[in-house]
This record gives sequence, structure tokens and C-alpha cells, in this order.
Amino acid sequence: MSFAICLQNVHKVYNNISVVTDLSLTIHPGEIFGLLGPNGAGKSTTIRMLTTLTQPTQGDIVVAGYDVVRQPAGVKKQIGVVLQQTSVDTDLTVWENMEFHGRMHHIPRHRRQQEIKRWLEYVELADRRSDLVKTLSGGMKRRLQIARALLHQPQILFLDEPTVGLDPQTRRRLWEIIKGLNQQGMTILLTTHYMEEVEYLCNRIGIIDSGSLIELGTLPELRQKHGEGLLMKQNGDRWDYMFFPTLPEAETYLSQQNNKTGMMVRPSNLEDIFVELTGRNLD
Ligand code: ADP
Repeated sequence: MSFAICLQNVHKVYNNISVVTDLSLTIHPGEIFGLLGPNGAGKSTTIRMLTTLTQPTQGDIVVAGYDVVRQPAGVKKQIGVVLQQTSVDTDLTVWENMEFHGRMHHIPRHRRQQEIKRWLEYVELADRRSDLVKTLSGGMKRRLQIARALLHQPQILFLDEPTVGLDPQTRRRLWEIIKGLNQQGMTILLTTHYMEEVEYLCNRIGIIDSGSLIELGTLPELRQKHGEGLLMKQNGDRWDYMFFPTLPEAETYLSQQNNKTGMMVRPSNLEDIFVELTGRNLD
């Protein structure tokens, strides 16, 4: 299989409003791909289409070799999904949650027990196996969701805003788990509006705004394209940005200014590129 996920000219319309517009995108096996965009950009809708929860209004989507509209059962077998709203059952124990999911996927008993143990150990929840989920912290619940999504040995993992609302330390721990899974060969598609998450985790990034893909590439590619050096200039209560191909070029420009008040130079980052492209901040 030359691609893990392929979208061709995908549209999604809700109540005559286009929420995803002509989205074409290929994600390769073994990638961690980040779909980045502000709230309401269409990220969750895209994930919902890829995971067969809603059908595209138009266009083709193939996931792990299966068409999402014609072969949804094939897709479901090959994917693990962690959505923001799919919560774990808080009145069951950690183990019971895993057991329930394993039975839903008809995993035979012996293998089910092995896999539950394996994934609870991987996300460091083995010692909490008998605890009710309602006694777990937010980060632990998210780890349980990830363990559960991996139980049926999917090829592709979808994570919708995996670390939203978590403290920085917990977020970092989840990043390590996600990175580790990828190193074991898992293809991962995640949505986020956290820059650092993308910078730390993602091989490639798609920036989505108002339902359209407006930029695609690796972070170095995007920085090279838009400029690696940035001059910030305070203008009243806002900052004006000027991109330069390299940081030294930005520094040279600054050094040549007679009045350097309110000016500073630094390497550009993804947020700068996003603001440049959309005129808006991510949050
Ligand atoms: P994101 O995940 O990037 O925040 P979403 O995909 O959740 O964006 O939403 C994109 C747009 O689609 C929003 O304007 C949202 O209100 C709208 N939308 C999402 N789901 C539905 C639905 N089931 N019915 C109608 N509109 C929806």
C-alpha cells in the first residue's frame, strides 16, 4: 500500500453550509501527520469522515485500503480512534473498559487478555487496572482511551485534539506515548491547535482554515517557503511581522535601521506562518 489515507476532492456540507471544501490529501504509512487549524476549521469533521462516523457529501476517501462509504467495516477494523467526545465509561474499572471494547471487536479471550495487559502496561495504567475510571485523572483517562483504541491492533490511529485541557507535564507524557507508537510503525493522524504539539510530533503538517487546506509540508519546508527569519515591530498595541529568507538577513535589516525602538528579530515558527496565511491566531 503506497498510502495509508487518501482524500480526493472531498466536500462536506451541513445545512447548505460547506464545512470541508475540496480537500485532497495523501498520508503515507508510518507518518505522524498533524492537521492544524483554529476552532471551527473542519478538523473534527474531517476525522469523522475518515473514521466512517459521517459520510462525505462528495469526493473519495480511502483508509487502509478501504473506501469509507462502500467498505466502512473494513476501515473500522484497521483504525483506532480517540475522539474528544468518546469518553470512557466512568462507572466501570480500567480493565472492564478494555474488556468491553475487546469483546465488541470479537477478540478471542486469550488474545484479549494478553493485549489488554500489554497496552495497559504501555500507557502505564497496569497498576490502576481495578480502579473505577471516575477515580482517574484527565491524563490517565486519555491514556486509557489510547490503550483501548489500540486493542484490536489497528494500522492507523486517529487522535482528535489528544492533549487539549491537559497540563504541560501530562501533555509531554502523552507525546512520548504517541511518538513511541509511531516508532513501532503506527501511522498517526492527529488534529491540534497547539503549535508545540505539531513541532514536537509531526513529520508533516496540513493547515486547514474555513474547511480548506491552505498549506501542506514539513515544518522546515514551510519555514523555508515563508521565511526562516522574522522581524517583529511594535505598532501601537499590535505587532507587525516581516519575514526574511534567513535569520541573518533579518538581523542585517534590523542593524541597518536608525531607530530600532520596538523591533526584535527571532526565528519564525509555525504560529507566525499561520498568522501570515490567515491573518488570525490559532486560539
Ligand atoms: P474543528 O474541529 O476544526 O474545530 P469542526 O469540524 O468541529 O471544526 O466544525 C467545522 C464547522 O462545521 C463548524 O462551523 C461547525 O459548527 C460545523 N459543524 C460541525 N458538525 C456539524 C453538524 N453535525 N451539523 C452542522 N454543523 C456542523
